[in-house]
Amino acid sequence: MSSRFSRRDFLRSVPLLGLSAPALIRPPGETARPSGRSPIGERPGVGPSGGPDVSTVPPPDSLDPWVELVEPALRHNARLVHEYTGGRPILMVVKNDAYGLGARAVARLMEPAPEIAGFAVIRAAEAVALREAGIEKPVVMLEHNTPEEAAELVSRNVRLSPFHDSAPRQLTRLAERFGRRVPVHLYVDTGMNRVGMPHERALQWMWEIARTGAARVEGTLTMFAGDGTGEFARVQLDRFRTLAREAGRAGLDLGTLHAAPSRVLINYPDAHLDMVRPGNAIYGREVFRYRGEEEVLDLRPTFRLRARVARVSRLEAGESAGFDRAFVAERPTWVATVPVGHTDGYPKKRPEGGRRALIGERLYPVIAEVTSNHTLVEIGPKKTVEVGDAVTLVGSDREEIRPHAVAEASGIEDEYWIMTGLKPSLPRVVASD
Ligand SMILES: *Cc1c(COP(=O)(O)O)cnc(C)c1O
Repeated sequence: MSSRFSRRDFLRSVPLLGLSAPALIRPPGETARPSGRSPIGERPGVGPSGGPDVSTVPPPDSLDPWVELVEPALRHNARLVHEYTGGRPILMVVKNDAYGLGARAVARLMEPAPEIAGFAVIRAAEAVALREAGIEKPVVMLEHNTPEEAAELVSRNVRLSPFHDSAPRQLTRLAERFGRRVPVHLYVDTGMNRVGMPHERALQWMWEIARTGAARVEGTLTMFAGDGTGEFARVQLDRFRTLAREAGRAGLDLGTLHAAPSRVLINYPDAHLDMVRPGNAIYGREVFRYRGEEEVLDLRPTFRLRARVARVSRLEAGESAGFDRAFVAERPTWVATVPVGHTDGYPKKRPEGGRRALIGERLYPVIAEVTSNHTLVEIGPKKTVEVGDAVTLVGSDREEIRPHAVAEASGIEDEYWIMTGLKPSLPRVVASD
């Protein structure tokens, strides 16, 4: 079998490694460790935030599971969103470690894409992690910050999104400290009542910021409370546009206007404005393919969860496998042990079954219960699998293992929970198909 202990997966990532490795900027004092093999329990580039670097690879002689980022799928999804929105630039949301895929790895892959204008995060540490990974495109922080955090972010040229009454004062202090105007995206609340300066007071507030001369307003944003289909989306957009019009009349430059996350950009084209702000659609989640019943975006899954077979054993009829003897062989059969479990992000399954794993070109049933670090797969009467064979637990390769299908066979609401549950410390490897 070609994939058995083969270097194919390893080699596939090498050309990209060659490209991305020199871009890695390490924090001062941290020296690069030789890549390739890493001590057990420790991998180069795994940070406290932002996930592992894309340059970590599963050593070809390791049986640890890994996550593949499917570069062509990510790029394809970004292109589709770009085309669907009439060529709007994309501020790609990579919050929450790029929804589990790994923010640094994903941002590195997507930075060269011409459709991507920049990246948005909602945690200060994630913004810092992107800069430390060498990301040079604009990074926008979509939350309030303490003065200390704000100073750290400005020093790294991360765009703040102020929305408090204190913003004119704080921006003035930052501008004085750094000797330049602070790039910002003004965050306006048009009715979600979560984050932002309430729109009724925003014009006056924008004036006060402008008077300080401390800010360079690169953009202005709001967030929708719904999916863009309801009447309230129109109310919110109307408030945002009215504000922008009044600001324009008053001679205030609000920069690039952006508002639409994935669902809204799909359902409500009026909300595309100057730039769109999706995460989910680019990560290829199934439900974001549709506008109502109609399929409008042919999005592709963007990740795989993979591992290697650790043991193949033969069961006689009547012998059992797994906790509580959950599987009992009705006839002689082979069973493969795959060292990947629910703590790695491969969820427990529904008792009635229906889960499959891809080994080589064949799908095999997942049996017994997925435990913290192990999954059992029934191979059948012929031993067609060997120790070291690569296994795909989740991926786009077959309908049965697409993320949404695995979610369904797990009794999970949808694949969002699979993505966000991928263990951050698993290596991220770039896949070219
Ligand atoms: C999460 C988020 C987005 C992206 O939402 P998706 O559904 O992933 O497209 C956009 N804007 C803000 C403010 C967000 O919090």
